[in-house]
Amino acid sequence: MAAKILVVEDNSANLELMCYLLKAHGYETVEARDGQAGIETAMGERPDLVVCDLQLPVVDGFTVVRRIRERPELSAVPVLAVTAFAMVGDREKVMGAGFDGYIAKPIAPESFADQVAAFLPASLRSELAS
Ligand code: MN
Repeated sequence: MAAKILVVEDNSANLELMCYLLKAHGYETVEARDGQAGIETAMGERPDLVVCDLQLPVVDGFTVVRRIRERPELSAVPVLAVTAFAMVGDREKVMGAGFDGYIAKPIAPESFADQVAAFLPASLRSELAS
Protein backbone atom coordinates (compact mmCIF):
# COMPACT_ATOMS: atom_id res chain seq x y z
CA MET A 1 0.00 0.00 0.00
CA ALA A 2 1.33 3.41 -0.93
CA ALA A 3 2.28 5.86 1.77
CA LYS A 4 0.14 8.47 3.48
CA ILE A 5 1.87 11.84 3.20
CA LEU A 6 1.08 14.93 5.28
CA VAL A 7 1.64 18.22 3.45
CA VAL A 8 1.91 21.33 5.66
CA GLU A 9 1.78 24.50 3.56
CA ASP A 10 -0.04 27.81 3.98
CA ASN A 11 0.04 28.84 0.31
CA SER A 12 -3.08 27.31 -1.25
CA ALA A 13 -1.67 27.07 -4.77
CA ASN A 14 1.47 25.29 -3.54
CA LEU A 15 -0.54 23.02 -1.25
CA GLU A 16 -2.90 22.02 -4.03
CA LEU A 17 -0.06 21.43 -6.50
CA MET A 18 1.97 19.27 -4.12
CA CYS A 19 -1.06 17.19 -3.11
CA TYR A 20 -2.16 16.84 -6.73
CA LEU A 21 1.26 15.57 -7.79
CA LEU A 22 1.52 13.12 -4.88
CA LYS A 23 -1.99 11.78 -5.47
CA ALA A 24 -1.30 11.46 -9.22
CA HIS A 25 1.62 9.20 -8.26
CA GLY A 26 -0.62 7.02 -6.10
CA TYR A 27 -0.05 8.48 -2.65
CA GLU A 28 -2.71 9.33 -0.07
CA THR A 29 -2.39 12.92 1.16
CA VAL A 30 -3.57 14.80 4.21
CA GLU A 31 -3.24 18.58 4.47
CA ALA A 32 -2.58 21.23 7.09
CA ARG A 33 -2.37 24.98 6.48
CA ASP A 34 -0.49 26.17 9.59
CA GLY A 35 2.19 24.76 11.83
CA GLN A 36 0.00 23.96 14.81
CA ALA A 37 -2.49 22.17 12.56
CA GLY A 38 0.45 20.30 11.07
CA ILE A 39 1.57 19.03 14.48
CA GLU A 40 -1.97 17.99 15.44
CA THR A 41 -2.61 16.32 12.09
CA ALA A 42 0.67 14.41 12.35
CA MET A 43 -0.36 13.09 15.77
CA GLY A 44 -3.87 12.20 14.62
CA GLU A 45 -3.15 10.78 11.17
CA ARG A 46 0.22 9.09 11.77
CA PRO A 47 1.50 9.81 8.24
CA ASP A 48 4.38 7.83 6.73
CA LEU A 49 6.14 11.05 5.69
CA VAL A 50 5.69 14.79 6.24
CA VAL A 51 6.38 17.54 3.69
CA CYS A 52 6.58 20.87 5.54
CA ASP A 53 6.94 24.50 4.50
CA LEU A 54 9.22 26.51 6.80
CA GLN A 55 7.39 29.84 6.91
CA LEU A 56 3.97 28.98 8.33
CA PRO A 57 1.34 30.77 10.43
CA VAL A 58 0.97 30.05 14.19
CA VAL A 59 4.23 28.06 14.53
CA ASP A 60 6.93 27.69 11.87
CA GLY A 61 8.30 24.56 10.23
CA PHE A 62 11.28 24.39 12.59
CA THR A 63 8.83 24.07 15.49
CA VAL A 64 6.79 21.48 13.60
CA VAL A 65 9.78 19.19 13.07
CA ARG A 66 10.96 19.65 16.66
CA ARG A 67 7.54 18.73 18.04
CA ILE A 68 7.28 15.72 15.73
CA ARG A 69 10.71 14.50 16.85
CA GLU A 70 9.61 14.77 20.50
CA ARG A 71 6.83 12.23 19.94
CA PRO A 72 8.10 8.64 20.25
CA GLU A 73 5.47 7.36 17.80
CA LEU A 74 6.50 9.96 15.19
CA SER A 75 10.21 10.27 15.83
CA ALA A 76 11.18 8.03 12.90
CA VAL A 77 8.84 9.61 10.34
CA PRO A 78 10.80 11.33 7.55
CA VAL A 79 10.15 15.09 7.50
CA LEU A 80 11.13 17.09 4.40
CA ALA A 81 11.39 20.87 4.33
CA VAL A 82 10.03 22.64 1.28
CA THR A 83 11.17 26.21 1.22
CA ALA A 84 12.06 29.13 -0.99
CA PHE A 85 15.11 29.89 1.12
CA ALA A 86 18.07 29.77 -1.24
CA MET A 87 20.87 31.42 0.70
CA VAL A 88 24.07 29.59 1.51
CA GLY A 89 23.79 28.05 4.95
CA ASP A 90 20.06 27.47 4.93
CA ARG A 91 20.44 23.85 3.96
CA GLU A 92 22.71 23.29 6.97
CA LYS A 93 20.23 25.10 9.22
CA VAL A 94 17.39 22.95 7.92
CA MET A 95 19.27 19.67 8.30
CA GLY A 96 20.50 20.70 11.76
CA ALA A 97 16.91 21.34 12.85
CA GLY A 98 15.95 17.71 12.40
CA PHE A 99 14.62 17.60 8.86
CA ASP A 100 15.63 14.58 6.79
CA GLY A 101 15.81 16.51 3.54
CA TYR A 102 15.19 19.73 1.70
CA ILE A 103 13.30 20.47 -1.51
CA ALA A 104 13.65 23.97 -2.94
CA LYS A 105 10.68 26.04 -4.10
CA PRO A 106 9.46 26.50 -6.69
CA ILE A 107 9.02 22.75 -6.85
CA ALA A 108 9.66 20.94 -10.14
CA PRO A 109 6.33 19.28 -11.01
CA GLU A 110 7.95 16.57 -13.13
CA SER A 111 10.21 15.35 -10.33
CA PHE A 112 8.59 16.42 -7.04
CA ALA A 113 6.85 13.12 -6.26
CA ASP A 114 10.01 11.14 -6.98
CA GLN A 115 12.07 13.51 -4.81
CA VAL A 116 9.65 12.87 -1.94
CA ALA A 117 9.44 9.12 -2.56
CA ALA A 118 13.21 8.81 -2.26
CA PHE A 119 12.75 9.33 1.50
CA LEU A 120 10.18 6.53 1.85
CA PRO A 121 11.03 2.91 2.61
CA ALA A 122 10.79 0.89 -0.60
CA SER A 123 7.74 -0.97 0.68
CA LEU A 124 5.76 2.29 0.85
CA ARG A 125 6.71 3.67 -2.56
CA SER A 126 3.90 3.79 -5.06
CA GLU A 127 4.02 1.45 -8.01
CA LEU A 128 2.71 4.37 -10.06
CA ALA A 129 5.91 6.33 -9.43
CA SER A 130 7.50 7.25 -12.72
MN1 MN B 1 4.66 29.57 3.87
